[in-house]
Amino acid sequence: MTPSHYIDGHWVEGQGSDCIVVHDPSDAQPFAELLAASSAQVDQAVAAARRALASWKTVGAAERAAYLRGFAEQLGLRRDALIALQMRNNGKPRHEAEVDLDDAIATFAYYADLAEQLPAKNRDVPLAAPGFSARTRLEPVGVVGLIVPWNFPLVTSAWKLAPALAAGCTVVLKPSEVTPLVELAYGQIAETLGLPAGVLNIINGKAETGAALSGHNGLDKLSFTGSNGVGSQVMRAAAAQCRPVTLELGGKSAIVVFDDCQVDQALDWIIAGITWNAGQMCSATSRLLVQDGIAEALLPRLRQALAALRVGNPLEQEVDMGPLTSQAQWLKVAGYFAKAREEGLACLTGGTALDREGWFVSPTLYVDVPEDSRLWREEIFGPVLCARRFGSEAEAIAQANDSRFGLVATVCSADLDRAERVADALEVGHVWINSVQAVFVETSWGGTKASGIGRELGPWGLAGYQSVKHVTRCLG
Ligand code: NAD
Repeated sequence: MTPSHYIDGHWVEGQGSDCIVVHDPSDAQPFAELLAASSAQVDQAVAAARRALASWKTVGAAERAAYLRGFAEQLGLRRDALIALQMRNNGKPRHEAEVDLDDAIATFAYYADLAEQLPAKNRDVPLAAPGFSARTRLEPVGVVGLIVPWNFPLVTSAWKLAPALAAGCTVVLKPSEVTPLVELAYGQIAETLGLPAGVLNIINGKAETGAALSGHNGLDKLSFTGSNGVGSQVMRAAAAQCRPVTLELGGKSAIVVFDDCQVDQALDWIIAGITWNAGQMCSATSRLLVQDGIAEALLPRLRQALAALRVGNPLEQEVDMGPLTSQAQWLKVAGYFAKAREEGLACLTGGTALDREGWFVSPTLYVDVPEDSRLWREEIFGPVLCARRFGSEAEAIAQANDSRFGLVATVCSADLDRAERVADALEVGHVWINSVQAVFVETSWGGTKASGIGRELGPWGLAGYQSVKHVTRCLG
């Protein structure tokens, strides 16, 4: 077994009891194994981050920015290996793995710029009362635990690591047990750059390791991305210590297609919103709302286009969609196909696991799905699209908002005034108008309702790792 934990500037083997077996989802074969970190190793990682904090938070803005630019550059130098690993371990088509890498690079570059601007953000605060002066200082929150899922491992970790390091925090990152290898690159880069020991620690493990980290009393904050079930456990662990938490959780997002849309263009947006990463996106637009006037023209074309997608092993051929990333996810999606049959849903295409080795399912479209269907209400996390029709703008907004989640939405319309109006009325964290899943590092990411607490990316992402201190002086 190769050392797969980076603690206090050293590579170490796991001493936990869990064995993590890493698979290629395209053939369901294992290709690596590692031992999880023990709880003593979680303690060591948190202690190392604590020791490193005092000096890392005083590192000057220019130096911190230089480290972050170093991460961006070093990711670029590892481009081919990181793309290949994401294709093999996640089953991502090549073009998607490339986008992920570019997104991670852009994130480090962006937060390098923000790190450089930090001193200018400390400012005097004018007071109405005479005899006092006041100023603010933005300080790092401290030692942060970062727990991430498997669907966009390089990117999700970059969205946390880059702002946390920019703010002057030290971190312990726990990648998902499904994809424990790709984020080790961040440890290798830290080593190459000579990042001080303990500033960035990486521990691998399953739920037990995650729980040991989220319940650790040596942390000042937790930032978690993953499922709602685990998110609430993480929040409980944080609550026990009155510790702040950022949660990026699930979604069941709507794509609203008005009847003034061009069908071809709408098809591209709908299909990308449900098949990118084989639909394993928190932001998948898995509830399609089609206006009555375009439904008859659109739905048969959508069925044809989904059925024509090239699904296969991204390492062997050019594909539009790869497999689901884990057997557990494959079984979960297959379970929803069974529920759809029980519910008697009308399936226009797909609705089955593919009869071949690997964890493949067909892109799937159910239509006229009742509002109380479990497939309409629950996050499936696969290429499974449920459609309903609507008449008026008000009806579209009401149906879109009728969800416990509130992560994102897409609005497709040639009438931009209407699209903006609908965007304003949707109860979500991010709306795309006539575009699909376009995430820019300058904009915020995060949801309302059960989709989470807090925001990542943009200045909001940095603020999540900062604490505001006021210094008030009596002038008398
Ligand atoms: P998950 O909740 O099962 O696991 C996420 C992480 O938590 C993993 O590292 C896992 O090992 C760890 N973990 C598991 N049990 C734990 C525990 N008891 N305590 C602490 N940590 C624990 O999620 P997943 O299956 O890896 O990812 C899919 C989910 O993530 C979906 O619900 C998806 O919507 C969500 N997600 C959300 C966003 C977002 O930005 N909102 C982005 C990506 C994924």
